Amino acid sequence: MIRFLAVLSVAAIMPLAAAAEPCPGNPDALGTERTITVDAATTPRVGHKEFPVSLPLNDKELVLTFDDGPWPATTTRILNALKHECVRATFFLIGRSAAEFPALARRELAEGHTVGHHTHSHPLLNSLPLAAAEAQIDRGIEEDEFALYGLRRSQPTTPFFRFPGFASSPALLERLAQRNIVVFGADVWASDWLPMTPDQELALILRRVEKVNHGIVLLHDTKARTAAMLPAFLRALKTRGYRIVQAVPANGIRLLH
Ligand SMILES: [Zn+2]
Repeated sequence: MIRFLAVLSVAAIMPLAAAAEPCPGNPDALGTERTITVDAATTPRVGHKEFPVSLPLNDKELVLTFDDGPWPATTTRILNALKHECVRATFFLIGRSAAEFPALARRELAEGHTVGHHTHSHPLLNSLPLAAAEAQIDRGIEEDEFALYGLRRSQPTTPFFRFPGFASSPALLERLAQRNIVVFGADVWASDWLPMTPDQELALILRRVEKVNHGIVLLHDTKARTAAMLPAFLRALKTRGYRIVQAVPANGIRLLH
């Protein structure tokens, strides 16, 4: 416990001092520059695609996020690419996939990534009655929590949520805010749900990242084209001087694992 508190206090007084740690086997790695604490009390909704505010990132700082996994064929490749570059990202899990592939969800956690929630089965929640939409959110969180921590609970360890298809509603946003769950939108995406080659996706996302300069990047770890282009994307970010920031919850629970 003392060690845990020490970690917290150091993190609290030196949020910008955390130079990227050495990356085993890859001295030129992109790395993870720092963490940013995201708290529903101050930023309940982030991402300019949907909301008026985003994370307070500096010049050329990016938060990488991956939706819709875990999915063995592609999430494994995504995790390997992130590990090679010592980059820590945020994954938004689909509960039924987490229930089916719990070892892969736990690998995300074990490799230091942030793991948030993305419903049980990915419906557009604004097309459901409120109670059914909330049940989708809760069931997804319960499945994720059980896969990750062995506890079936609807209050999430990491209170980060993303709406499938960004299909939120005012009532659901209010309910999530009451539960202190941060809703993640995005500032830039690769449109990786559309048919294109990995090279086309790489060119598109780099062009869009250059345009926004900094922000939350949305990708899908279920997409083969994204898994294929990710190593080159991370290399290009390094070459172009971008820095990776990991979003972490305010309560520090992640540090216990
Ligand atoms: Zn999704």
